[in-house]
Amino acid sequence: MRKKIIAGNWKMFKTVQEATQLVVGLKRELTDYVAVDIVVCPTFVNLESVSDLLVGHNIKLGAQNLFWEDEGAFTGEVSGPMLKAVGVEYVIIGHSERRQFFHETNETVNKRLKAALKHGLKPIVCVGENLSERESGRTFDVVKNHVTGSLAGLTKEDMAEVVLAYEPVWAIGTGKTASSAQAQEVHRFIRGLLAGMFGQDTADAVRIQYGGSVKPENTAELTSQPDIDGALVGGASLKVDSFTAIVKNAR
Ligand code: PEP
Repeated sequence: MRKKIIAGNWKMFKTVQEATQLVVGLKRELTDYVAVDIVVCPTFVNLESVSDLLVGHNIKLGAQNLFWEDEGAFTGEVSGPMLKAVGVEYVIIGHSERRQFFHETNETVNKRLKAALKHGLKPIVCVGENLSERESGRTFDVVKNHVTGSLAGLTKEDMAEVVLAYEPVWAIGTGKTASSAQAQEVHRFIRGLLAGMFGQDTADAVRIQYGGSVKPENTAELTSQPDIDGALVGGASLKVDSFTAIVKNAR
């Protein structure tokens, strides 16, 4: 039985004061709520203060990216050991905004993913088609390319640590959610790909989140699909009430 996992991607939002306020509110609502795994992913500069507030808490800390080298002359980058040192457990890799605006490719996603695993971080690996790819009937090709390329060279043991997030780019931040049937179809397809790559047992154990305009009102319907194991939430993770309701509505 796969435990649901709800992760909030705070993107480039929240000053340290705002981030602190949000975490204090989430702790008020979600302390001891262990029916689903809960993760929040602030910006790099807010990781440490959020981490201090979450010591020993059931809400876990995630980062939004990492670089594949441990240290060196890589201006602007942050490494796995640096994330571990401030208490990070999860890290989002290959978000569509990284692929779109910062030229992430399957190859760089794969390098970041291997670095995360090497340092004991749990990666949340994002895949998904954009609108023109969906409209031209290429959804399954694109998703297959992202899954096989991003996960290349991983072992079954590695996959025990990995969470996947199917995020149709056309549904991110647009208010357009994939219908539960559309999402389930792709999630089932991804699980089939995982079975081919790593065997059925591994495929059955990997959690696959849905992401794209998840709100309190659509969470139960989406997460009650057989292959949808939670949500990666952007906009609605920035407020205590909406994120709490999403966590509590996950089935
Ligand atoms: C995301 O950032 O991963 C996301 C799904 O954003 P939103 O929920 O705002 O669509």
